[in-house]
Amino acid sequence: MRDIIGLEEALGIVRAEARAGTARPSITVALADALGRVLTREVISPIDSPPFDKSAMDGFALAAGEGSTELRIRDTLAAGGAPVRALGAGECARIMTGAMLPPGADRVVRKEYVVERDGIARITRPETGDNVVRRGANLKRGQAVLRPRVLAAQDIGILAASGISEAVVAVPPSTGIVCTGPEIRAPGEPLGPGQIYDSNGPQLAAQLAAMHCPGLQRGTVPDEPMPLGRAIAAALDEHELVLFTGGVSEGDFDYVPRCLEEQGARIIFHGVAVKPGKPTLFARRGRSWVFGLPGNPVSTFVIFEVFVKPILYRMMGRAYEPLAVSGTLTRALLRRRTERAAFVPVRVSGDRVERPEYHGSAHLQALAEANGLVYIPSGSEGHPEGSRVDVRLF
Ligand code: AMP
Ligand code: MG
Repeated sequence: MRDIIGLEEALGIVRAEARAGTARPSITVALADALGRVLTREVISPIDSPPFDKSAMDGFALAAGEGSTELRIRDTLAAGGAPVRALGAGECARIMTGAMLPPGADRVVRKEYVVERDGIARITRPETGDNVVRRGANLKRGQAVLRPRVLAAQDIGILAASGISEAVVAVPPSTGIVCTGPEIRAPGEPLGPGQIYDSNGPQLAAQLAAMHCPGLQRGTVPDEPMPLGRAIAAALDEHELVLFTGGVSEGDFDYVPRCLEEQGARIIFHGVAVKPGKPTLFARRGRSWVFGLPGNPVSTFVIFEVFVKPILYRMMGRAYEPLAVSGTLTRALLRRRTERAAFVPVRVSGDRVERPEYHGSAHLQALAEANGLVYIPSGSEGHPEGSRVDVRLF
């Protein structure tokens, strides 16, 4: 490992690198395929929303200036109709929620405030508002429906409400995943002595999929310089981002850093004062960035959250802001050694922040029980029981 750098410094380097990258191409996708993708351009509404004055209630529409409380029911107006007849003095129209107001009408008295008999509507209580959503009240034609963002379900809704059927989104970076280690077997295969299942590959692919970024699992390479060098060369030729897992520590067979350099990559940092994830490596060759993630699956997961997610969003033109909630620690989260910043898996529900049993960076079960991470900065001994902490959700 090189000189170990602080977490903030490492994050700053990754942010600056990604900012310096070239502008990404965009593609147009159907709304059905837009969820979770990064909208790259402001979207302008082609229509007024709503497109006409509409009733917000089931009730009775009244003409402007109508003073009487007993009105003859002239019409029944359903949503989807286009009434042309204006109401005369002493008249009203039965109207449904979402229906267009008849010409000249300017308010609706809700059904519950009216008693109806023999074609006459008698208003029994005064209304507080007009119960009308005016044309363009929500959004006017030419106004921005959405600015660039990661598209959520409600964003799909507002685009659809504006009559827009497609979205212009960033092309996600092409990402490759390479696992290292002769002990790694694909799930479904039999395990030989000394072997374990590959959890990093499927987990990283799933973390990418959750961001709507394609991740190609390129298989597992043994800890041998020749095949590793070939795997690195092929992956860097093909992808803009390559994630290696394992082989970046100080062990006798941790060849990833050396082989990366042999393949022309420049190591930008190797070693970050963070737990888990100390051996994390960041490198670049041409247009491709490389992360060497530690082999232990909790480290891989956390370093993806903390480093890889931000760079991916940055490559797609967005600053990533993790969602955080705060709560009260039900058990102390303290430590003796304070050199490194730390992320600890926790489970937050309501105001309670609980710590699942956590045996360290190989203990995936702890992550499966957690829904977020508590951060402990370097130099801090942690958080006592009962303290308020921020939980970074994942
Ligand atoms: P390494 O970083 O290569 O020293 O690996 C650290 C630990 O993570 C070792 O116990 C490895 O067996 C384990 N490990 C490495 N790669 C994977 C993987 N793809 N899935 C699950 N565990 C792994
Ligand atoms: Mg290894």
